[in-house]
Amino acid sequence: MSVAIGIDLGTSNSSVAVYRKGKVETIPIDGRKTMPSVISCKSDGQLLVGNSAKARLYIDPNNSIASSKRFIGSKDKVYNVQNTNVTPVDVARNILEKIRVEASKYIGEEVKDAVITIPAYFTDEQREATRKAGQLAGLNVLRLLSEPTAAAIAYGLDKERNQTIMVYDLGGGTFDVSILRVENNHFRVVAVDGDSMLGGDDFDDAIAEYLMSKMKVSGKVRKSSVGSTSVQQLKEAVEELKKELSESDYADIIIPDIFGSHLDEEIDIQTFNSLTEPLLKRTIDKMQEVLKEAGLTKNDISRVILVGGSTRMRAVQEMVAKQIKQPFIADNIDEIVAQGAAIMAANLSAPDLDSTPVPIEVEEVTSHSIGIGMVDMQTDVFRVYHLIKKNTKLPCTGGEIGYTIHPFQREIRFQVFRTESTVPSDESKIGELRLKVKRPQASPSCAVALFELDQSGILTFSSAEVKRESQIVRSFEDEGEMNIPLIESMIRSGELKTEKVVIDTNK
Ligand code: AMP
Repeated sequence: MSVAIGIDLGTSNSSVAVYRKGKVETIPIDGRKTMPSVISCKSDGQLLVGNSAKARLYIDPNNSIASSKRFIGSKDKVYNVQNTNVTPVDVARNILEKIRVEASKYIGEEVKDAVITIPAYFTDEQREATRKAGQLAGLNVLRLLSEPTAAAIAYGLDKERNQTIMVYDLGGGTFDVSILRVENNHFRVVAVDGDSMLGGDDFDDAIAEYLMSKMKVSGKVRKSSVGSTSVQQLKEAVEELKKELSESDYADIIIPDIFGSHLDEEIDIQTFNSLTEPLLKRTIDKMQEVLKEAGLTKNDISRVILVGGSTRMRAVQEMVAKQIKQPFIADNIDEIVAQGAAIMAANLSAPDLDSTPVPIEVEEVTSHSIGIGMVDMQTDVFRVYHLIKKNTKLPCTGGEIGYTIHPFQREIRFQVFRTESTVPSDESKIGELRLKVKRPQASPSCAVALFELDQSGILTFSSAEVKRESQIVRSFEDEGEMNIPLIESMIRSGELKTEKVVIDTNK
């Protein structure tokens, strides 16, 4: 059985680990425990990944890409480096390829199998794009595992005691908060929440914009790392300042000759905290929400674990202590997610060999609700009916029956939404499912649409035409909801033949 690795594909930094000979080890890349998630393309076409690319971010920002995980899964984001179009999936692929090659060298055999971690709050598109990047990088993606779950596995493996853990994960570009029940190496995620557009980068931007306004430079720091040299120079200096403020109460930022002037400022921790307070407040709101969704209070939490580089900020640690309880801060904060993924990878690749760690069971949940838009017969209002609710155990299936309304109608359409609300909106619409009616007829035809989320939280759609008098339709009309176990058993027995449907995302 080949060795499987665990990869933490981070917004700012990535890391990789392996479980072998009874212990988990972090695999160094270019001699370091983490690698910057940065790529850079030189004018001769040479592609650099990691440390060497990060060094070029400052001297050649227009041909270097950082923090692109923020845009993974977005159809519209395309970078242009050395006159070539590059998507966030391409960037992730290059990073993962380098990791695969380095891990193979370190382990001494070709590595293919991997568990890749993702923010718990990633949508289906973001998950699908990450898996695709892994496949393009030559990896066999055993599972996408959420980062907080991976951290809890690495943290909780040797702890026998049953406990309820909250994982607060603030990285460079994303924020996740999860609540897990851990019982004898059974890790059950109870609830997740988060914001995939909130991380350390936003703290940097807030300070950079404050300094720019002091220097009377108009404009916003672009979210993308591809920008002018001055903006990039300021962002880098601000990140250093932020890190210094994690240790001391004052820090200086001095940059000669920037935006046509000199920058020489002292920033104290109070100014830093007040400028970034709105960002911290957003994480507090999410913590309260996740407790509510889990039906728990802060007194039910046995342990809070901090994960992600941005939890080194003192304001984060103090806030968590005040809101919930004194947090646990791992020594290996940058490695813990990859290590948890490596333990999961060892379990998935060789579950019954002596070489695996203590067998673990992991149950994760859906991070968003998915539904379809339909007119409410009673009120005549178009609303969203949720088919799969947030925090449902993965894998799971939801379904709906559609009917033709007009004689000889050839298609049944569903509008699909990802939202916690029942009010449909353009932003929450994922796309449209069009189910072809094979034999259009004068009387109404029916089709069942199935929504399946796999263990990694990736969504697929399928459908089957069914007769009006079929058991599925009868039970749906009697009970007012789909009988999923019945459908699953009919699929298994071959009685119901479903076909995959591709969602049309041109809204
Ligand atoms: P990660 O994605 O977990 O590697 O986290 C990266 C983020 O952590 C970046 O935004 C860094 O600026 C931030 N970070 C790393 N070290 C520190 C520190 N000592 N104080 C504050 N933020 C930090």
